[in-house]
Amino acid sequence: MENKSQSDLSTLATVIEGFGDAMFSQDLNNNITSWNMGAQKLFDYGEAEIIGQRIFLLIPAGLEQEQDEILAKVLREESVVKVKSNRRQNGGEEIPVSLMAYPVKDETGQLVGVSYLVRDLRIEGFASDRDSMLAAIIEGSDDAIISKTLEGYITSWNRGAERIFGYTAAEAIGRHITILIPQNRFSEEVHIINSIKRGEYIQHFETERITKDGRLVTISLSISPIRNAMNEIIGVSKIARNITSQKLAAEKQVMLAAIIEGSDDAIVSKTLEGHITSWNAGAFRVFGYTEEEMIGQHITKLIPAYRLQEEVEIINNIKNGNRIEHFETTRLHKLGHEMDISLTISPIKDLNGTIIGASKIARDITEEKRAKEIINQQVKKLEILNSIGKLISEKMDVEFVLQKVTDATTQLVGAAFGAFFYNTVDESGEAFMLYTLSGAPREAFEKFGMPRNTAVFDPTFKGEGVVRVDDITKDPRYGKNSPHQGMPQGHLPVVSYLAVPVVSATGNVLGGLFFGHPEPGMFKAEHEDLVVSLASQTSVALDNSKLFEEVKELSRKKDEFIALATHELKTPLTSMSGYMQLLQKKITDEKNAVFIDKAISQLAKLNTLITDLFDIAKVQAGKLQLQIEEIELTRFLADVVEGLRSTSNTHRLQYSHGQPIWIAGDKIRLEQVMANLVGNAIKYSPKADEVVVEVRLENKEAVVLVKDKGLGISPENLKNIFSQFYRVEGVNSNISGLGLGLYISKEIVERHHGQIEVESEYKKGSVFSFRMPVIEKK
Ligand code: ADP
Repeated sequence: MENKSQSDLSTLATVIEGFGDAMFSQDLNNNITSWNMGAQKLFDYGEAEIIGQRIFLLIPAGLEQEQDEILAKVLREESVVKVKSNRRQNGGEEIPVSLMAYPVKDETGQLVGVSYLVRDLRIEGFASDRDSMLAAIIEGSDDAIISKTLEGYITSWNRGAERIFGYTAAEAIGRHITILIPQNRFSEEVHIINSIKRGEYIQHFETERITKDGRLVTISLSISPIRNAMNEIIGVSKIARNITSQKLAAEKQVMLAAIIEGSDDAIVSKTLEGHITSWNAGAFRVFGYTEEEMIGQHITKLIPAYRLQEEVEIINNIKNGNRIEHFETTRLHKLGHEMDISLTISPIKDLNGTIIGASKIARDITEEKRAKEIINQQVKKLEILNSIGKLISEKMDVEFVLQKVTDATTQLVGAAFGAFFYNTVDESGEAFMLYTLSGAPREAFEKFGMPRNTAVFDPTFKGEGVVRVDDITKDPRYGKNSPHQGMPQGHLPVVSYLAVPVVSATGNVLGGLFFGHPEPGMFKAEHEDLVVSLASQTSVALDNSKLFEEVKELSRKKDEFIALATHELKTPLTSMSGYMQLLQKKITDEKNAVFIDKAISQLAKLNTLITDLFDIAKVQAGKLQLQIEEIELTRFLADVVEGLRSTSNTHRLQYSHGQPIWIAGDKIRLEQVMANLVGNAIKYSPKADEVVVEVRLENKEAVVLVKDKGLGISPENLKNIFSQFYRVEGVNSNISGLGLGLYISKEIVERHHGQIEVESEYKKGSVFSFRMPVIEKK
């Protein structure tokens, strides 16, 4: 911003002239040719009396040779020479001075003389009041204030010049002004000098200069001639103002304007009252109105009636200085339709920071929203695909898998209904079996029966690939097999048709997935791809389930074998123990009786093992039958414990119980559980001599506990001991067992709707317990 008036500038120029040092010049013949006020003051000669005099008038005796040398040097090198020397005043007094000598050229560039700038060294530092005031003004100015000779040599340089151009006064004074001028602007300087020589002032001339460190600065120049007392122009004063940042700001403005115009978004500004003050090209593209149509209009022109309240809230926010970002709403297009847009609104402030309006950036997100929707749909599809994929690979239940696949594919392709048909042929050799259906009731097929070997169906089952038809009613294959026709007319109005064979790894067509829709052209290539990939996964599932069935069959045979083998083993065992018991009664010899006892107890063990094996087979086959009866548990357990007492001569069996508890259970199986738990408690507490059995009522459940003070079980083993064949390693390698007892016991308890549990502390002992529901005794 130019805030200094022209008159200010010319005053300054005059100041320089008045305040300046002594300036004078000579020709090549050593005659004085110019003389300024400073010179008049310093040497006390009037301009009139000195012009034309010999230069030596000013040279003290003995310094003539130095003067000759200065002259010679200036002329030889065509450059400035600076010296400190003495000069003589009118009246003969010698004064110390600093002196600068410059070459003077005429218009043709011919050397015509030398000009001098001389400063009185005595008064340096204490200039007169007026001078120091002026000096202060010049030094304090932000502008560069420079004076130079007509030849372009710098004769004064203020602090503003130093700030703008980087050179100190000492560096700049005596140098040629071209150190500041970019090469491409040299001609400018010639033009300036010529103007000045004509006595013209140049005001606010915008140009570029170079700083000491090579930066370009944009400056505004005001240039005035410096005249001597005879009104001859002897130099130039320049005031330069750095307007680089101003220029940049202006450029930025232009750039911003370009950006705003170039933006795809609508960028609109409005007053706080809602009147539109600017409207860019993007706004035209988004809303359809031109700038002329909208400037001055009220913003509500763009807002659907039911959203007017929104604008009130927005303006309130803006008035509070808030910014609103990515606010999704709808606005009206010129053509009347609503658009989804995302708004960002910021307050506009004036220089004082007062909010005077709002700028709005509106982006049409209709497309974006649609794209998002599509992505969402795709994600949903992928989720379905993923879950179906998982299901197919995990489940062995064919019916379940096929139903899911049919449902999912029907949904994914957007069919009105879908079905899976097995490729089995009936006796007449022409029916396929409907297996699963989605989107249509089975009755819809009832009249239709099973699809026959029609021209429409046939290719699918013959493995001829996918059939996808936009309008099956127009297909030549359609209607060939009247009265059934291709699809059940009247029940399922099929127009769009898609059929994908499900082919096994060996190439057999296992069946087909069929889809229909009442409108034409519903099934696209992408749908076909989707079903084809699911069909191939499905065929893998079907193949797998076939393998699974085979394995199941093998396992069933194994169970049968074990059952048979157990039976075969048990028969001789039973007769052996019979004979043994007979022998026991016959033998009176105590020594031999011990052997018989041992044999009987080993036989009992063998019997248990075989029973366990047999039970395992039963459990696995799901054939563990229970003979349920009402049991009074406290008395039943008393009998069981009594029986178990006789099996151990190392441990005492303690039994405690409260009031009678009734349950429904299988006496033999429960006795088996007790035998297992008590047997284990004895087996795995070799150093203890007591096992405690307890029964009590807890929350309508009967709880039976078997406690020992034996080896205990470490936590990492605890979770596995109910698995079949699991035995804790190491600790009980010398204790016999198959790892089946707890597995079978758990099975039995659970079949009684109960639970079996264990609490154990390693090396301290264990508590095995089971609980089952009690019944009301009738
Ligand atoms: P088995 O006793 O024939 O090995 P079980 O199924 O009855 O099979 O028991 C499984 C395992 O659980 C045993 O091998 C043993 O390691 C551990 N176990 C069972 N009961 C106890 C107990 N009372 N104290 C310590 N360990 C036990």
